[in-house]
Parts: sequence; structure tokens; C-alpha cells
Amino acid sequence: MVTALITHADGLEHVTPEGHPERVARLEHVLHALEGLDLRRVTAREARDADLLRVHPQRYLDRLAAAVPDSGLHQLDSDTWMSPGSLRAARLAAGAAVQAVDLVLEGAVGNAFCATRPPGHHAETETPMGFCLFGTAALAAKHALDAHGLGRVAVLDFDVHHGNGTQDLLWGEARALFIGSHQMPLWPGTGRAEERGAHDTVLNLPLAPESGGAEMRAAWEPALSRLRAWRPELIVVSAGFDAHQDDPLASLNWSLEDFRWITRAICDVAADVCGGRVVSTLEGGYDLAALSASARAHVEILMEAAA
Ligand SMILES: [Zn+2]
Repeated sequence: MVTALITHADGLEHVTPEGHPERVARLEHVLHALEGLDLRRVTAREARDADLLRVHPQRYLDRLAAAVPDSGLHQLDSDTWMSPGSLRAARLAAGAAVQAVDLVLEGAVGNAFCATRPPGHHAETETPMGFCLFGTAALAAKHALDAHGLGRVAVLDFDVHHGNGTQDLLWGEARALFIGSHQMPLWPGTGRAEERGAHDTVLNLPLAPESGGAEMRAAWEPALSRLRAWRPELIVVSAGFDAHQDDPLASLNWSLEDFRWITRAICDVAADVCGGRVVSTLEGGYDLAALSASARAHVEILMEAAA
């Protein structure tokens, strides 16, 4: 089986202000790093309203549509912006994850990586934040549950920031196990171990600033056991690479080998419990060299697992 790479050039049409970390060059560098790999390259299509409405209300879709500027930039909060191409880019990011779920569950590919932007794991039910407009990982999980009829999915998030949006969107969803590691304290401030969801299906793994790969692995080992025992039928990954030691927004000290380790650990559980079915979507990562190298390492492990 092959690994799918789902992307669209219009992800480059989401423009942020000069100096903003979540910038066009991120996607350019990731795609460049993945050139030459033997991937099934798939052009993303926009999410339908029905996909987005699984996690966001219609009034939120209306509000974002009304906020798209005809030119220039529109600021939604202190760090979240829209340009004329942002809504389409966000719909492509969400749509790519939905497509990835379809391709993996139909058995057309072994697993999939969505190279898209803006990221999604900070977008709450009715609140865009943290560079994110739609809850991409959560709506992919909901698509697997509601459109494909799965009984259990897992969403794993190793971005350095807490996936507050994913947690919010899946808080009451008993069929979805959400496990996330993140630096704490750090923006957005949520993600304490005491936050466990309405059905005890949220597992937060806060990591201390300046901790590194050893602490990360120690936190994830028991979490992976819980994941395995839960027997998800699909694993969705929020793949942020901003825990890298060179990232400017945080101070965890993960190496490339740490990203390989967590990816391999996820794929190992997937191989044992759900036929290797993994859908990964790009979240953060703001040092261009670290991001592109980490994304390549992540995809190479996905390819090994699918082979
Ligand atoms: Zn992040």
C-alpha cells in the first residue's frame, strides 16, 4: 500500500501579515521537502458545508464567509487573519482531511498526510483562534464516525501547543479518544491533565518547558497503551512540528528522531488495531528548516508503515 499526500496549491493563497509565523513559505518548504518521495499525490478539494457542520454551526460558517476581505487582510483576533484566499485554503485543508479519511477507509491507500494550511486544532466551535479557522482533525474524526459508521476513532496531537479546539469540538463525543501532548505553561493555557472530557475520552499530556525527548516518550508510553486498549478503527493525527528544538514559538527540545519515534509508535498501534489506518494533517512548525525536515521524517515513517 502507498501513502497519500493530499495538498492544493491554493493553500499558498492564505496570506498573513509580514513577520507572521504561520506564513506561505511553510507550505512551500514542506512540499519541497516531500519532492521525490514515492507518494500517491492527490489534489485536495474543498470541504462541503455538511463536513464543516459536523463541528461548527451554520452561523459560524456565515460569520467567516462575511469576514473574507475583497483585498488586503482582515484580523479576526490578535494572531488570526484572513486574506481573500483564506476561506478557500481553510476549506481545502478541511476537505483534504475528509478525503484522506475516505481514501484510507476505502483501502485505496495505506495512510495519508495532508500538507495544508491554515492549521486547525485551535479553532473552537464558534471561535477562530491561533491561526486556525476550521477544526480540521476533529471534523475528519466526525466524518469517519458519521459518514463511514465507525464506532471508535482516536485523534492524537503532538503539536507543541494544546489542541484546545479539537478538545472543545470532541469534548462530548464518546466515540472519539483525544490524546495530546503539549508544552505547559504555554499559549493557549488549556490542556491540564484534569481536563478529561464529558466521557473521560480526553487525555492531556502536559510537558514542562525545556523538557525533551525522554520526557515526551515517558508521557506517551502509557498513553499509547491506553490508545491500544481502546482499539480505534482509525487514527487521526494533528502533526505539528513546533516541539522541535529549533522552533521559535516554544521551548521543548524534540529532535528529528523524536518525531520519528512518535510517528512510528502511532503507526505500530495502528498496525495492531486498525490495519494501519492513519490520517495525518499538518498543524504547526515555524522554523522552516526544522519544519520541512520533521515533516519529511514523519512522512517517511508513514511510508515505511504503509509498505
Ligand atoms: Zn503549535
